[in-house]
Amino acid sequence: MLISGQNGFICENCIEQAHAIVKDGASKTGNSPAETMEELKKPKVIKEFLDQYVIGQDQAKKQLAVAVYNHYKRLLHAQDENREVELEKSNIIMIGETGTGKTLLAKTIARELNVPFCIVDATILTEAGYVGEDVESILSRLLMVADYDVEKAEKGIVFIDEIDKIARKSDNPSITRDVSGEGVQQGLLKLLEGSIVNVPPQGGRKHPDQKYIQVNTQNILFIAGGAFDGIKEIIERRMNKQAIGFSSEKINKTDEDEYILTNINAIDLRSFGLIPELLGRFPIITYLDKLTKETLVRIMREPKNSIVNQFIELFKMDGTDLVITDGAIEKIVEETIEKGLGARGLRGTTEKVLEDYMFSIGEDKKIVLTEDNILINR
Ligand code: ADP
Repeated sequence: MLISGQNGFICENCIEQAHAIVKDGASKTGNSPAETMEELKKPKVIKEFLDQYVIGQDQAKKQLAVAVYNHYKRLLHAQDENREVELEKSNIIMIGETGTGKTLLAKTIARELNVPFCIVDATILTEAGYVGEDVESILSRLLMVADYDVEKAEKGIVFIDEIDKIARKSDNPSITRDVSGEGVQQGLLKLLEGSIVNVPPQGGRKHPDQKYIQVNTQNILFIAGGAFDGIKEIIERRMNKQAIGFSSEKINKTDEDEYILTNINAIDLRSFGLIPELLGRFPIITYLDKLTKETLVRIMREPKNSIVNQFIELFKMDGTDLVITDGAIEKIVEETIEKGLGARGLRGTTEKVLEDYMFSIGEDKKIVLTEDNILINR
């Protein structure tokens, strides 16, 4: 078959060959994860990349960069036929209030590494056989993102959001089954550990007549995130209990919220309702700081695609120069803090503030937003 172009024709064989070259080239120029140790980005480089998009959270970034580096090093190691030691993987749990950047961190890191990435919500999952989605559907998402390229998906990263919502409902085993809590945790175990799983390509619930795709989860990195409301009190209780008798100094220090939360460990998550088997499969626990006013101001301004830059760009398309002064940014941040939505609320507040200007866009050549003329209409 000949396909016509502007001044000539191309045959189907050439098209296929060209396609193969392009695809091959694309995979070499960074559309695939690193294939040699030299290509693999070092933790410091990964963190520097994260710094461009995520403000603050240094501790979490460091831990994440190291974990991800080790994970992909492990993959390279697994390809080595003369290896004597098997390296095991370390999944990660991130704990932090809503809107502190958990998803953003996971998403950014996957982009940097050129691996398939998907976000799944743990709350939609239920134990097999009950209304809701089976845990295997997590991998359907990953397959979809990887264009059903199983090999690619097997090196991906899965972000399981709201992991705290599948905590065990109560400590004593009750007569009613906990199908969306403990049942899901049990179901996740085999996925996390690394096994060959039958995945329904379209997601949802499994049923007997369906065709499955087999996915090996051994090299998939799982990052879980959750707000874990009330965890502070659990840590506090544990620390105070420990302090009695030999280290009363600690009790005074516990006044500082941040200090308490940095002490989080698997015992606390267990008290929260995650089963030990699950925790054992998440050896890395990291904590994201609460966003302070200063951090929020930086989030408004500093990331590559910061909110301020986005709106400036939007106004520029109509030939309007938008200037948002420091005072105005501070006002926006203060208003957002009151709403308690974390950094996620910044965009909404900014939208609201600029609403009238956007309505009459194109009428002014220059708009300067200052702390005096900014209108916060709730
Ligand atoms: P969650 O912790 O609930 O997963 P997200 O990561 O989804 O929160 O954050 C929501 C939005 O808030 C992000 O898309 C991003 O725009 C912004 N954001 C949150 N934390 C940060 C941060 N540390 N640096 C830059 N932007 C942030």
